[in-house]
Amino acid sequence: MSAQPVPLPADRAPLLSVRGLVKHFPIRRGALQRQVGAVRAVDGVDLDVFAGECVALVGESGSGKTTLGRSIARLVEADAGTVAFDGEDLLALRGAALRRKRREIQVVFQDPWSSLNPRLRIGEAVREPIAVHHLAPRAEQAGRVAELLRLVGLSPEMAARYPHELSGGQRQRVGIARALATGPRLVIADEPVSALDVSIRAQIVNLLAELQARLGLAMLFIAHDLALVEQLADRVAVMYLGKVVELGPCSEVLARPQHPYTVSLLESVPVPDPGHRPRAVLAGEPPSPAAPPSGCRFHPRCPIARPRCATDEPALLPVGAGLAACHYAGELKPEWKHSGAAGVESGRIGPLAGPDTDYRTHLEGR
Ligand code: SF4
Repeated sequence: MSAQPVPLPADRAPLLSVRGLVKHFPIRRGALQRQVGAVRAVDGVDLDVFAGECVALVGESGSGKTTLGRSIARLVEADAGTVAFDGEDLLALRGAALRRKRREIQVVFQDPWSSLNPRLRIGEAVREPIAVHHLAPRAEQAGRVAELLRLVGLSPEMAARYPHELSGGQRQRVGIARALATGPRLVIADEPVSALDVSIRAQIVNLLAELQARLGLAMLFIAHDLALVEQLADRVAVMYLGKVVELGPCSEVLARPQHPYTVSLLESVPVPDPGHRPRAVLAGEPPSPAAPPSGCRFHPRCPIARPRCATDEPALLPVGAGLAACHYAGELKPEWKHSGAAGVESGRIGPLAGPDTDYRTHLEGR
């Protein structure tokens, strides 16, 4: 089934508009390297990001969120679909036109250590994109580097150091400074804090939130932890096995999730309470994206799956304040009770309507 169009606010056009994006990685075997299958990393995704907005893309490892981000930035080439940036078809751009557009879309990578050249001093690493894109005369580049280092909370003296002389948090700040060096309008932050110590994560998330507001950036924030996105994101898109299964305003998705997978993700957020018992913990590993289940891809793990779920693929349709791809999303009780998971103070998770659709009933039977 093709992805459903995401409704847009009538009064403004999105800065980034993704439609039906597909990226499959071939699986090759044997001496002749014949293709025997494909990993369906991204399988028909629609997504919009408006100017100045932060959209969080969340999901387990292997859900396709990083591949989606990389396909948008043209770090991998999509197989099908369209990516429009400011009305221009990004996937059709080549050569100088693509390089020009790349200035406006920058990526902050997950691992700040491997994203920096160990032989380049920090000043050189930050100056490089300015020089490559001819954004300032040589005489002004050092001043611009100092300005960028200050912007991300580093001393300009850091310019003389090498990456190994910096902490993980400082290296990620350098990664952010590099991304900002070209004056982008959209930043794709690909799990920018997951390689950092827990104590540093909040600092980097706060820095990104501050920069996003101050510079009016649009941001696609990729994370596997829903608790992280609460302070940063305006909207949340939840991905499962290459598809967006829920999309909506951040506060709504966190307080009143409509898709059982989102409920399970929220319930898996650790709570510092020994008495807390999560209700909807996901069973088993995600199925292989090389052979996604029929019908609803979530049905082998869904605690409320019914026979129809194994045959009919649900479309992403309006439910509540957002969109959800679940045949039974509309049957969730509106007055969900908070289970004690981290983050939102009220109205989080509760049972579905009807005696045979209670999460606890299903989970106890497993
Ligand atoms: Fe669960 Fe069925 Fe909804 Fe999929 S469509 S999430 S299997 S209830």
